[in-house]
Amino acid sequence: MIDIALVGNPNSGKTTLFNNITGSNQHIGNWPGVTVEKKEGFSKLGGKELRMIDLPGVYSLAPYSPEERITRDFILNEKPDLILNIIDSSNLERNLYLSTQLSELETKTLFVLNMTDLAMKEGMQVDDDILSAEFKQHFIKISASRGIGIDTLLDTIDKMLDLDEIIKPDLSYMRKDISDGVEYIKEQLGEIEHKDFTALKILEDDALITADNPLEPDVLKQVSDIRQDIMTKYGDDIESLVISDRYDHASSLVRKCLFKSETKSMSFTEKIDTVLLNKYAAIPIFLLTMFLVFQVTFGSATTYIVEVLETFISDFLSPFAGELILSLGASDFTAALITDGIIEGVGAVIVFAPQLFVLFLFISFLEDSGYMARAALLTDRILKKAGLTGKSFIPFIVGFGCSVPAIMAARTLDSEKDRRLTIFLAPFMSCGARAPVYAMIASAYFFRSRSLVIFSVYIAGILVAMLSGILLSRTVFKGEESPFVMELPKYQMPRVKSLLRHTVSRTKEFVKKAGTIILVASVAVWLLTNLDPSFRVVTDHEKSIIADIGRGISVIFKPLGFGSWIPSVAVLTGVFAKESVVSTISILAGADGVGVLMTPLAAYAFLIFILFYVPCVAAIGIMRRELNSLKWTLGAVLFQTATAWIMAFIIYNAGRLVGIE
Ligand code: GDP
Ligand code: MG
Repeated sequence: MIDIALVGNPNSGKTTLFNNITGSNQHIGNWPGVTVEKKEGFSKLGGKELRMIDLPGVYSLAPYSPEERITRDFILNEKPDLILNIIDSSNLERNLYLSTQLSELETKTLFVLNMTDLAMKEGMQVDDDILSAEFKQHFIKISASRGIGIDTLLDTIDKMLDLDEIIKPDLSYMRKDISDGVEYIKEQLGEIEHKDFTALKILEDDALITADNPLEPDVLKQVSDIRQDIMTKYGDDIESLVISDRYDHASSLVRKCLFKSETKSMSFTEKIDTVLLNKYAAIPIFLLTMFLVFQVTFGSATTYIVEVLETFISDFLSPFAGELILSLGASDFTAALITDGIIEGVGAVIVFAPQLFVLFLFISFLEDSGYMARAALLTDRILKKAGLTGKSFIPFIVGFGCSVPAIMAARTLDSEKDRRLTIFLAPFMSCGARAPVYAMIASAYFFRSRSLVIFSVYIAGILVAMLSGILLSRTVFKGEESPFVMELPKYQMPRVKSLLRHTVSRTKEFVKKAGTIILVASVAVWLLTNLDPSFRVVTDHEKSIIADIGRGISVIFKPLGFGSWIPSVAVLTGVFAKESVVSTISILAGADGVGVLMTPLAAYAFLIFILFYVPCVAAIGIMRRELNSLKWTLGAVLFQTATAWIMAFIIYNAGRLVGIE
């Protein structure tokens, strides 16, 4: 198996090329110990078995961020046979910094100039021959998303893999004092891999690398003298000097190899941004865009599809399956378990897939077109006040659909602190699965003002998320503020293929994740509702195990006004899936009984509780995976449930104080 690692800046097109080469033959997980996506894919090339690794996007190999550490460790420790350095040709200088750093290693590297179509559109022409000559390495031009140059790329990869030569690094672009220092250290090191890199790190006084390569005391003394001399001469530490030399090198390369046509006055992107990022119009345009996204996603057309699916399941699929099973000789109990438990339970969730598909399609479109980054920039100022970064905006928006992808989206954030805080708060964005609960309770208790009531619940979620953000970022999540350095990508028309790929895979994930957990939960709820504590079948739900459990936990909800057993059980089953609240209440109370379970004030407190308390099992599972710590997951669950209880308590008791029932 031959390992090929894709290394490059974020958004340089690594994943696009990766998908292009590996097709659907991929495996996605997490890097051990951190919540950074790990993608591996397989392919064959002229009889060679290839394993492609899509490494996280980095601007350098510094290694300060988890992404940089993963990338550097992978190159140094896993020793890939070939690195493909993916370069965004339309952002050449920033990308060539990383290329320069890669050229300091002794790993075979092919430099891939991607986005050549975009550069061309901007009136830029990159000369790959000049770059090849300057680096004494192979540069090749492609467009990953358009599939241009891929065949030549694969041919070159094939040839390079057969070649034995490894091009020795050439650090002559660094100031002479430094390259001389590196030469001196190299002479003292034995036969080791990545000698230039190691020597440079020793000169920089990198503790780890120095510890791994012990030198004689007198050599160490000599190195320390060289280091001291350079630092005194230039008034800065070696690391900063090296960084600055690399930058100078990258910009001098750009001057040599990049040709711009002069006719371009204002780029396409700049033109669009004068409107979309206009001082006055930006926020209204943004709000309008979001409003339209929600309007279409949860509008009457998709709601109609959801209703048709619901009707299909309850009026056709479920009775049909029931009769089929009975005719095969199954007992009434088994048939009811399959129809009322499994089909209705799982069906209640699956029916929302069309709405989520539409939402994901919009999100993919906004992401791929380049608008999402601008939206994040706009909301950054507001979110910063709440201790969050503008990028949290994306998980929050996704949270209105479903907390599971919202929590996963938090991995796009740069600092651990931002990631955790966002995971804690994203579930407060009322997810689509809670909507049926609001619809049922609001119609039963506040029929005439139901839309206003539901709207107020959504707003409450946003406000409390902001307030908790302020609170948490000043206490539990104290830490340095991470600067908002998101690159504004250029606008482009998204490719239909890539849109569909994103959307389908996100929807699939939802159906799969929700489906497996809902299945188990539905069976459990159904059994507990139909068995009594000595496991005899009961028809009277008052005598079921679930009623006993409900009465047991109802004390917790007494101070909130809804402390009878049915709402208590509903809260409990809602942990499996929020839709279960609806099915549980309607099974246990009957369609006409919903409106008499509590007072209207308690019903509102109930809605608020449903909004804030722990998200469903699927979301908790994802929180566990993304937070990568049981302690933080429990912390999040407790925090969310405590917030729910306190908010419901305040509303119920404040309401009673002013005489509302
Ligand atoms: P990664 O962060 O390096 O994995 O980058 P992605 O593969 O996710 O690509 C970022 C964006 O650039 C996506 O919207 C791609 O469709 C787009 N993209 C990738 N390659 C090209 C290309 O060659 N030309 C153009 N115009 N867009 C590209
Ligand atoms: Mg990627």
